Amino acid sequence: MNTSTAKPPELSNSPVAAGKKVYIETYGCQMNVADSELVSRILAEAGHQIIEAPDKAEVILLNTCAVREHAEERVIGRASQLYGLRNRTPNLTIGILGCMAQHLAKSLPQRAPFVDLVMGPDSYRRLPQILADTAEETLLDLRLSRDENYVGIDPVRKVGTNAWVTIIRGCDKFCTFCIVPYVRGRERSVDSGEILRLVGNIAREGSREVTLLGQTVNSYEDGHMDFAELLRAVSAVGGIERVRFTSPYPRDFTAATIEAMAALPQVCPALHLPVQSGSNAQLEAMQRGYSIEQYRTLVKQLRRAIPNLALTTDIIVGFCGETEEDFQATLSLMKEIRYDSAFMFKYSERDGTYAHKKMPDDICEEVKKDRLQQVIKLQEQISYEVNQQMRGKIVEVLVEGPSKRQTKTGPNNYGRSPQGKVVVFPQQAAPNTFVQVQIDKTTSHTLFGDLVQV
Ligand code: SF4
Repeated sequence: MNTSTAKPPELSNSPVAAGKKVYIETYGCQMNVADSELVSRILAEAGHQIIEAPDKAEVILLNTCAVREHAEERVIGRASQLYGLRNRTPNLTIGILGCMAQHLAKSLPQRAPFVDLVMGPDSYRRLPQILADTAEETLLDLRLSRDENYVGIDPVRKVGTNAWVTIIRGCDKFCTFCIVPYVRGRERSVDSGEILRLVGNIAREGSREVTLLGQTVNSYEDGHMDFAELLRAVSAVGGIERVRFTSPYPRDFTAATIEAMAALPQVCPALHLPVQSGSNAQLEAMQRGYSIEQYRTLVKQLRRAIPNLALTTDIIVGFCGETEEDFQATLSLMKEIRYDSAFMFKYSERDGTYAHKKMPDDICEEVKKDRLQQVIKLQEQISYEVNQQMRGKIVEVLVEGPSKRQTKTGPNNYGRSPQGKVVVFPQQAAPNTFVQVQIDKTTSHTLFGDLVQV
């Protein structure tokens, strides 16, 4: 547990670089989206202008993800494509930010020599100063910090129904397959006073829902509040009507957190609870820190306390040493728990992790692909059946706006149920308002219905 109550350093505010047009493109998880919002504020405070398209940009920043290899290849390809804009803007600066910057620090200048700056996720306060410096060689700033929580910076958010608030940065768990602790640094909780200040501002700006973010969000502890107490404090902020959080770490769930989730009407009955595998041997190999029996007990406690809880998860197939028996245990667990949905992946090695250094990647690609297809097929069926149970029911929906889904009757709107499900309906409704929708049709991913008065 690390805490940070340090006074924030001043934002760098360089008049030399002020006034540049900056375009930011974001890859990966919600933590990265939240970091791009922070970077936007830091640059805006320094006098730069954030723009929505790359063609007129003088600075292009790609905020990257290192968790999956194909994401890295995508980013390098995209950076190379954007480099073509130098024909039009000769002084164009291209920067790589975030986890991938941290992960590929050494090889990036060779793999993408046109990149001007490479910056890890704890260095963003120095971005204005670095943009002001002119250098022939690629500028690297990859220091990882034990206390950088970007206190005092209000991210630039697009006002909508939901706002993301990072409450804990980094991770101390060191699961053997995962690169995150190496690229995002050690776990540290944002001061609860700062979180409540940010949530108060979000409510004043008009968002009605807040999602608390962290790699292990429920490990939160700032020396004043633990996660359960923080949930209570955030739920008490006037104007905030829905509170979500992602992703919790199964081993760090406490009885107090379950009690708070059950007691607070603002906390949505939706939980992403990564399991990764249904086999104890695999959980041990991954160093997940819990057994499948403990996970199962936790699910029972949660479902007993919160009967309408929607559960989602992450599953990896084909991790080092996964036998057919291990894989069957994952399928059995999925049938038993019946998740509402899941993110499913086949294992791919990330260099720098414990598994890459010490464990043979010994499941052949064909088997990995086949197992992935099997879990996807099973989950699609379960999601479909779970959603079917919603037919005829009335759900409260927080409206987000026009849906991309056209039907024979014309355009649709959409929003989310408390369980986080996308609900599509044809009637008009203002974004950021609550409506009641009676569900008449479902797929494995979406609920459809009509507005009703209750
Ligand atoms: S808990 Fe494990 S999987 Fe999650 S970010 Fe930390 S090391 Fe990675």
